[in-house]
Amino acid sequence: MRAWRVGQPGPMSSGPLVADECPDPRPGPGEVLLRVRVCGVCRTDLHLAEGDLTPRRPGVIPGHEVVGEVLTCGARATRFSRGERVGVAWLGRTCGTCRFCLRGAENLCLSPVFTGWDRDGGYAELITVAENFAYRLPPRFSDEEAAPLLCAGIIGYRALCRADLPIGGRLGIYGFGGSAHLAAQIALFQGARVYVMTRSEEARALALELGATFAGGADEQPPDPLDSAILFAPAGGLVPVALRALDRGGTLAVAGIHLSDIPPLHYAAELFQERQLRSVTANTRADGEEFFRVAAEIPLRPTTVPYPFSAADKALLDLSEDRVTGAAVLRMDDP
Ligand SMILES: [Zn+2]
Ligand SMILES: [Zn+2]
Repeated sequence: MRAWRVGQPGPMSSGPLVADECPDPRPGPGEVLLRVRVCGVCRTDLHLAEGDLTPRRPGVIPGHEVVGEVLTCGARATRFSRGERVGVAWLGRTCGTCRFCLRGAENLCLSPVFTGWDRDGGYAELITVAENFAYRLPPRFSDEEAAPLLCAGIIGYRALCRADLPIGGRLGIYGFGGSAHLAAQIALFQGARVYVMTRSEEARALALELGATFAGGADEQPPDPLDSAILFAPAGGLVPVALRALDRGGTLAVAGIHLSDIPPLHYAAELFQERQLRSVTANTRADGEEFFRVAAEIPLRPTTVPYPFSAADKALLDLSEDRVTGAAVLRMDDP
């Protein structure tokens, strides 16, 4: 099969993503083999290619927002049948026995397996997935719409939950890419007022079009104090900026897997008055199932930017240079 692998991690201009011909994967026990139809492009793929995330396996195939159809089922895999549409997300497997798995916090599993980091992902014609970690996707979403929901959507939803937004509250969103534009739609649906701070002018326009109250520059102060905020931009320098924008008792959730260094915090202005700073780490399968129910009910309208499969490197380059408004996706039917 054709696939993209992470070669020598480095800036996108150095060509860290390599097109390759690889052996077809075979489904192990409890796994299914999928023909990939669409794979979303997530900022985590960029962090991996550029070396911000340490590779966990040399030459791994990235991609963890995979919409595919079942080709074959491995031994003891009975959940899906041939031809069914299935989604593959970031959480590829958990141990099921550590103290976190046992208490329902499998996102914190001590030995997790991540798609497109530990095991091969969806920048390829074929992929295998443990059936218990795959998702059935609401039929109202096309393949291209469903792909970004699998990470950008699920993580945005968990970040929104972690931000403890009160009913009818004011939510600040820092950075407005694939995940943020979905989380914003959920918050607006729930009756929140949304304030978006981002350096991209196109993203600000999209935010206002979706119903945001305010769209300003990356470190601009919103006009009202925020009850909650989510930092989607991987910029640690924005942590104190967002904390200062919070009202007393407000919560800031940091959504990304990678963040540049956070400058020293000013206790009185940025943390005192019971402001809270939290991270968001992966998601549980229950988060994913709950998110898909909410997404279909609203319904979410993902803004997607399609790329042919052969242009995966171009898609990541565009993402690194802020040229993608919404969520980039790779289409396998456009080789
Ligand atoms: Zn575990
Ligand atoms: Zn992701």
